[in-house]
Amino acid sequence: MSHSAEHIPISDHFLSNQLVEEMQADIRGRFLINEPMSGHTSFRIGGPASLYAYPGSIEDVSKLIKFCVSKGIQYTIIGYGTNMLVSDMGFDGCVIDLAESCRNIDIDGNRLIAGAGQWGNDIVRKAAENGLGGLEKLSGIPGGLGGWLKMNCGAFGSSISDHLISTNVICNEGKIQTISKHDAKYSYRSSTGLDGKTIFGAEFLLVPEKSEKLLQVVEDTITERYRRNIMTLPSAGSLFKNPPDNYAAKLIESVGGKGMQFGGMEISPSHANFAINTRGGTASDVVDLINTIKMLVQDNHNIELELELQLLGFNDEI
Ligand SMILES: Cc1cc2nc3c(=O)[nH]c(=O)nc-3n(C[C@H](O)[C@H](O)[C@H](O)COP(=O)(O)OP(=O)(O)OC[C@H]3O[C@@H](n4cnc5c(N)ncnc54)[C@H](O)[C@@H]3O)c2cc1C
Repeated sequence: MSHSAEHIPISDHFLSNQLVEEMQADIRGRFLINEPMSGHTSFRIGGPASLYAYPGSIEDVSKLIKFCVSKGIQYTIIGYGTNMLVSDMGFDGCVIDLAESCRNIDIDGNRLIAGAGQWGNDIVRKAAENGLGGLEKLSGIPGGLGGWLKMNCGAFGSSISDHLISTNVICNEGKIQTISKHDAKYSYRSSTGLDGKTIFGAEFLLVPEKSEKLLQVVEDTITERYRRNIMTLPSAGSLFKNPPDNYAAKLIESVGGKGMQFGGMEISPSHANFAINTRGGTASDVVDLINTIKMLVQDNHNIELELELQLLGFNDEI
């Protein structure tokens, strides 16, 4: 997701310094210039963001969005960068990171209210410790609550939207809104009702259960993930969504994708929908892998694979 149709280039060092000075006059937070995105993505790939901001509070997030819109600066929100491919050229705009704000987890009866900058697994564990069930099958998925909600992440038959009541967002004009689960239009790895919005928190209605039982499911789920997935290598999770009634990994394997290499990137020999950065891979290596696999699957199965991976800093479709 990146915003602003007409945007101004801000990669010039003098201009970005000037913008940071203007931001700091009214907005609390940390502002970095020319920040390498490879340090903010699980792929360990990506050129520099002209500006990288950690606003200090929700109010500061809202002010920063208004500032970007008023100046014509393109902006995007990052969670923990675990489903993102940033181009080798980087992103000529402002990346907004909520990891230093929006970090609350509050429990009120069967309701759990959490901030978008919170690491998702900490929310799952806190719910389980407090005897609240419904999130435990998501254990081990990397990322923050904002990214989890935007991507409608899921595993083992559960998804983050299952027990959701509503999401708190800031829209392009900086206004705060509450969006119901229905209006967020959740479907498989998608939440079209949240497009163009910055999520800063959400409320869930969970199911009372014995805490020991839930914590055991958390442990078992993590063990199972590590057995099945490639959890410790630099990847961004699944490259492609599963097509209806099919599995992307199965299709990729059937066209000989496992182990395919471009530059420093390789399709995992154990999970065909995961690309692994084995030796200093670049975004352009990932793009080569994606396009080759898409072509092979299209030619052999007449199925057009859709990317799950989110792209940042690419001018056109890759
Ligand atoms: C090893 C590994 C295993 C994985 N396994 C799974 C799995 O089992 N199931 C699954 O569903 N996913 C999986 N993923 C993918 C990833 O963890 C999820 O997509 C997760 O939801 C991304 O969260 P994030 O905070 O890292 O988001 P990011 O990657 O930072 O962002 C993803 C998208 O969400 C947007 N976004 C992030 N935060 C906000 C916000 N606050 N407001 C608005 N938009 C926002 C970004 O702009 C971007 O478009 C895996 C990834 C890895 C690396």
